[in-house]
Amino acid sequence: MSGFPWFDYCNTKLHVESVQLDAIAREFGTPCYVYSRAALIAAYTEFDAAFSGRDHLVCYAVKANSNLAILNLFARLGSGFDIVSGGELHRVLKAGGDPQKIVFSGVGKQPAEMRAALAAGIFCFNVESEAELVVLDRVAGGMNKTAPVSLRVNPDVDAKTHPYISTGLKENKFGIAFDEAEKLYASSEKFANVRITGLDCHIGSQLTELGPFIETCGRVLDLLNRLETRGLQIDHLDLGGGLGIRYSGENPPPVGDYVTTLCKEIGHRRQRILIEPGRALVGNAGILLTRVEYLKHTSYRDFAIVDAAMNDLTRPALYDAYHEILPIMKNKGNGKTFQIVGPVCETSDFLGHDRKLALSQGDLLAIMSAGAYGMSMSSNYNSRPRAAEVMVDGNRTYLIRERESVEQLIAGEKILP
Ligand SMILES: *Cc1c(COP(=O)(O)O)cnc(C)c1O
Repeated sequence: MSGFPWFDYCNTKLHVESVQLDAIAREFGTPCYVYSRAALIAAYTEFDAAFSGRDHLVCYAVKANSNLAILNLFARLGSGFDIVSGGELHRVLKAGGDPQKIVFSGVGKQPAEMRAALAAGIFCFNVESEAELVVLDRVAGGMNKTAPVSLRVNPDVDAKTHPYISTGLKENKFGIAFDEAEKLYASSEKFANVRITGLDCHIGSQLTELGPFIETCGRVLDLLNRLETRGLQIDHLDLGGGLGIRYSGENPPPVGDYVTTLCKEIGHRRQRILIEPGRALVGNAGILLTRVEYLKHTSYRDFAIVDAAMNDLTRPALYDAYHEILPIMKNKGNGKTFQIVGPVCETSDFLGHDRKLALSQGDLLAIMSAGAYGMSMSSNYNSRPRAAEVMVDGNRTYLIRERESVEQLIAGEKILP
């Protein structure tokens, strides 16, 4: 047992669904992201089904993984989308996403991005400051349109997660403070080209307890009461994303418990409920496949230098994040403690520290739980072309993004005359 459904050993070889990972490495090369279609569908279905008939919209947070094939898969299942840029809007529309199911988050929306979203007819803008509301009002007015708006409030709740991915504390840049939000809602009539439709929050990522979600929900409902007392009509509540996944020892609440807890907190209110999960939909549906280039033994440590690096998967370098690392061929004996590192010229270029593995040059490894914030955060540092992406569906394999070429890397660059 690998501990990861859809990625498991069969005859000592690690498979994705029914496909051997060594066959994928032979066909598409390494490093390569590999996703399971069944895992993606199961994750979405679990969220969607847990609402059991209550009016809701699951808006997949595109930044977790924005490959068109994944967006299209979710669109076909009826998913909505949470976007944070004009680029993500373009992707969702290209992938067949329904504009009426798109919410637009982010603290720095530009007028051109607002225009594109208004032209597409998105469901809602999650506005994060009064200054942004002023600009959105002007942009919508210029197009003779009315912008549907939620204010993203900052509930000042400790998400108890890594400080770099905590967003709901008053010292974070996200959202509008509660008192200010109430005032801004109350003054919203003065923005003629904006229609208030909802109330939004998002407190952080990789949350492994329900407590902070419940606390946030309580505060948001207090504000909702106050807004309704003032006679404002709020049609939907957007409770953000942030549900964590299991990378190794974590024990995040099951999706069903998370959704039913939110529904219970909200009770019999008439508002439609939106959630914006990213990581929990794609994180455990993907791996990064890599090959050992060299083994290097120093008197101090043993290194396995692999062909994937911090430019392919940034999370270890960025947050000291832990990813399970599994051999593609099991049962090779006892092994040693290795530092799994990439070829990039940075000491932070590691994928795992102190991993007990039996390794030889040329072996393949799977960096697990790499479906979220893996490819989407990748870069070209050290002029490394970005990895290929492959989707497995049963016993079939589809290339969903070609490996980048060095020619593509330099295509926009010019030499001085
Ligand atoms: C990143 C983000 C999400 C998704 O977070 P996950 O932890 O991946 O679920 C949802 N909403 C907003 C506004 C975000 O910025």
